[in-house]
Amino acid sequence: MPLSKNLALQKIRAAVLRKKNGPLRIETLNMKGPQDTEVLIRIAASGVCHTDIGMVHHWETTDGPQVLGHEGAGVVELTGKKVKAVRPGDHVVLSYQSCGTCRSCKSGRPTKCRRFYELNFGFHRLDGSNALESSGVRGHFFGQSSFSSHVLATERNIVKVSKKLPLKVLAPLGCGIQTGAGTVMNMLKVRKGKSIAIFGTGAVGLSAIMAAHVVGANPIIGVDIMPSRLKLAMDLGATHVINSRIADVAVVISRIIMGGVNYVLEITGNPQMLQLATEVVKKRGTAAFFTGDGVPDFVPQGIKAAAVVEGDSVPQIFIPELIKLHQSGKFPFDRLLKFYDFKDINRAMKDSINGRTIKPVLLMNGNF
Ligand SMILES: [Zn+2]
Ligand SMILES: [Zn+2]
Repeated sequence: MPLSKNLALQKIRAAVLRKKNGPLRIETLNMKGPQDTEVLIRIAASGVCHTDIGMVHHWETTDGPQVLGHEGAGVVELTGKKVKAVRPGDHVVLSYQSCGTCRSCKSGRPTKCRRFYELNFGFHRLDGSNALESSGVRGHFFGQSSFSSHVLATERNIVKVSKKLPLKVLAPLGCGIQTGAGTVMNMLKVRKGKSIAIFGTGAVGLSAIMAAHVVGANPIIGVDIMPSRLKLAMDLGATHVINSRIADVAVVISRIIMGGVNYVLEITGNPQMLQLATEVVKKRGTAAFFTGDGVPDFVPQGIKAAAVVEGDSVPQIFIPELIKLHQSGKFPFDRLLKFYDFKDINRAMKDSINGRTIKPVLLMNGNF
C-alpha cells in the first residue's frame, strides 16, 4: 500500500474499533494530510447509521483497527492545492465517496460508481493510501470516518451548507435520511396519488414516509413492530400504520388498497418481511430492497425489484433540496434525532439497536 509522503501531521481524537461487537474507544491518533485534492474538516457532529453498527457486529481480527462513521458535518480547516469547492471556515455536510472519473460518475450517477464498494468500505483513499497508517488504524470509511474530531474528505463527498444552519441537525443528511427520501424522490420517482408501503420505520423508513408525503403519495402505509415509531410515522405523513406483530400485514394492506400497492420499501431485512414485500406489490409495481445484498431471488415475475444504494442521490444536488424542504417545514427530520456526547458513542449505538433512539447524533463538543 502506498504511503502518503510529505504531508502535514494532525493529532486527532477518534473512536477506534478493535474488537468484534466493540466497545469503541476514543484514542489519540496521527493523521497525515490533506493531500492536494483533500479537505481537512473539524467535525461538529456525526450521525450513527445502521451500517456503522453492522460493521461493529461483523468485525473480524483480520479487518484490523478501524474508525467508522459516515454522517459527519463540520467546518473546513485546511484545503489541498487543487480544491476549489470550499475554503477554510466553510460549513460542510459529508456523504458517501465516489471516484469522479468512471463512466457512471461522469454521467452524474455516483451511486453507480465503479469503485463504490472499495471507496466506501475499503478503508483507504482513491490512491490506496491511508492517512491513519502511522497509528496502525484504518480510516476513510465512506471517504470520511467521521467518529473523529477531524477527517479528510474530497470535493466528491462534501456539500457546502449555509453557516446559519446548525451542523448538528444537518449531520445525518449524508446517508440514512438521504437514502430514505432519495429512494422515493430520485430512484422510484413516486408521483402524486401512487400507493406505497414502507416496511421498517426507523430513520430510513421515516425519511421515506416524509418524502412520500411531500410528493403526495396515497395511501402511505408504515409497517413496524414498535408502537412509538408507528405513532411518529402517522405524525410524519403515513395515512395508515400496521403493527406486524399484531396484525396480518398482507390482509390489512389488501383491505386498504385492493390489488396491492405500487411500491414497497423493504428496510427491515427480516426474511419474512422480504417475502411479504413481494406479495403486497401490484403487478408491474416495484419492491425496493435495502439489505445491501442486491434483490432476493424469489421475486415473482411481473414485479420490478430494485436494490437501493443511497437512494440514487447525488449529495451536492439532493442534500440542499432536503435542507430547503426542512426549512419550509415539509421535511421535519429533526424529529428523528437525539443528541449524545461523543464519549457516549457506545450508548448511542445501543439505544439505536434497541429502538430507543431513531437517529443518534454524536456531538464533538470538544471541537466547538
Ligand atoms: Zn466513479
Ligand atoms: Zn449509512
